[in-house]
Amino acid sequence: MSAADSSASPSAGIVAGVAAGGVPGTEFSAWDVRTGTARSTVFRDASADDVDAAVTAAARAFRGAQLEDSALSPATLVSAIADALDARVDELIAIAALETGLDPDARLRGEVARTSGQLRMLGAEAERRSGAFLAEDPPVPEQSLPGLVLGQVPIGPVGVFGASNFPFAFGVLGGDTAAALAAGCPVVAKGHPAHPETSELLGAIATAAVSELGLDPGWFSLLQGRGESVGSAITVSPELEAVAFTGSTRGGLALSDLAARRPRPIPVFAELGGINALYLLPAAAASPNESFISGLAGSLTNNGGQLCTKPGLLVLVGDEAGLSVVTELARVLGGIETAPLLTGGTRAAFATGVDRLAAIEGVSILHAARGEVPAGAPVPSAVAVLSSAALRADPSAADEIFGPAVVVIVCADADDLLSVVEVIPPGLTGTIHAADGDHALLPPLMRRLRLRVGRVLFGGYPTGVRVGSATTHGGPFPATTTPWTTSVGARAIDRFVRPVTYQNLPDSLRATALAWS
Ligand code: NAP
Repeated sequence: MSAADSSASPSAGIVAGVAAGGVPGTEFSAWDVRTGTARSTVFRDASADDVDAAVTAAARAFRGAQLEDSALSPATLVSAIADALDARVDELIAIAALETGLDPDARLRGEVARTSGQLRMLGAEAERRSGAFLAEDPPVPEQSLPGLVLGQVPIGPVGVFGASNFPFAFGVLGGDTAAALAAGCPVVAKGHPAHPETSELLGAIATAAVSELGLDPGWFSLLQGRGESVGSAITVSPELEAVAFTGSTRGGLALSDLAARRPRPIPVFAELGGINALYLLPAAAASPNESFISGLAGSLTNNGGQLCTKPGLLVLVGDEAGLSVVTELARVLGGIETAPLLTGGTRAAFATGVDRLAAIEGVSILHAARGEVPAGAPVPSAVAVLSSAALRADPSAADEIFGPAVVVIVCADADDLLSVVEVIPPGLTGTIHAADGDHALLPPLMRRLRLRVGRVLFGGYPTGVRVGSATTHGGPFPATTTPWTTSVGARAIDRFVRPVTYQNLPDSLRATALAWS
């Protein structure tokens, strides 16, 4: 199976190693974002039969792996996929650069390395977990208490939905697929219609890895589609056990609703839009801050501002130093040329979002993109400024604008800044910039912030995400629908395993109980 090419009939994806049939009449093209023109490669929506075949094959592969002794661990599969990604990095980034407009070297090459790195890390995490039980309560015969050991088992087939802005790290073979496969769960991935060629190539890479290892082809399927029908059909498919979603709040909530209304509801782990406030405390605002401003401007315009971790809110005190930071930030942003936005939908949503902000009582727009932006053209960034009182009157001023926009919230004093934390909706991250004179504010600010976000940063900017054992990429809604989970880092695997207690486990079965994936 190879990636779709323009001479072949439209691809609807790859179902357990075989080309999906698709629904005639639903054809759609890949787009070259930089020129705003359709590419010659054409796709079509996977059919209900394709979805059914993919999920049934995944369930068969899962049962086979669970019920029979297999010499092959899921860690071997994820590491084979990682090696194949690295080997085809040039081909991958060439296609993704056309479809997303993201810079091949400054952005996409590193994203492929992060993606293969997280596949390997999650494979290693699964192996580590297979070496020990989660907890043990030895028997207490004198009290007639049985011995308990706490193990875990994979949950079964997982449907994965990636986002438009991360073709690799949150794409078909991104962190969700890596965590599910490493946990021992087969994956049915939905290709994103903003980058179907990239999705197809990633699907072909995973399909080849499954085949070369001699595994059941049901371990991985890719379904192409534009619109709601394919994603909805995956979510309601009876043998699916969970959905992992990265994308818009609207999409994540729609799929969560659908999953909850199934005869047998299943979890939807939805990582949603990002509201990332950066708090610039008064003494930090008053210290020399040229590098702070250029760092912030870079962080919020990098990749066209299309990152879920973009610092979209700047919160400061409106004294002389604070106000001069705002003026200077607007000046620096005016000189930065951003990348073109990912899709026509993203461009339209950005323009609407800025118009919506401008219409809010008390908002001034210092520097902005207004109106229609042509395809392929960079979008001027937007700086909106409002008082904390205006934010309290209309908290929607803090809603995510996906793209190069920042909302500055000007507080009356430090106490006002502390109380505004509880007006700003929860998000993935919260960043604190403090100087020596701000120390008294740090404990109360951290106490408030940690109730609202998944990651609290002291200095720096939230757009770089370290993928490690201590990583949390999540947070209270609307960061995610499942605030106790993370979609990035070693603990991402927790979403796809469930605990099992073995009572009075015979020694002869310990090894089988431990080898869970
Ligand atoms: P999106 O429009 O929600 O699309 C994500 C995927 O879900 C697509 O395959 C889409 O397919 C499908 N989908 C969406 N709504 C659906 C529905 N009602 N029924 C069935 N399928 C549905 O999101 P996006 O524009 O790609 O992503 C941008 C957003 O993702 C931003 O808000 C960004 O902040 C967020 N994001 C979050 C994270 C994070 O980790 N928290 C990471 C990256 C991005 P169709 O288009 O075919 O419907």
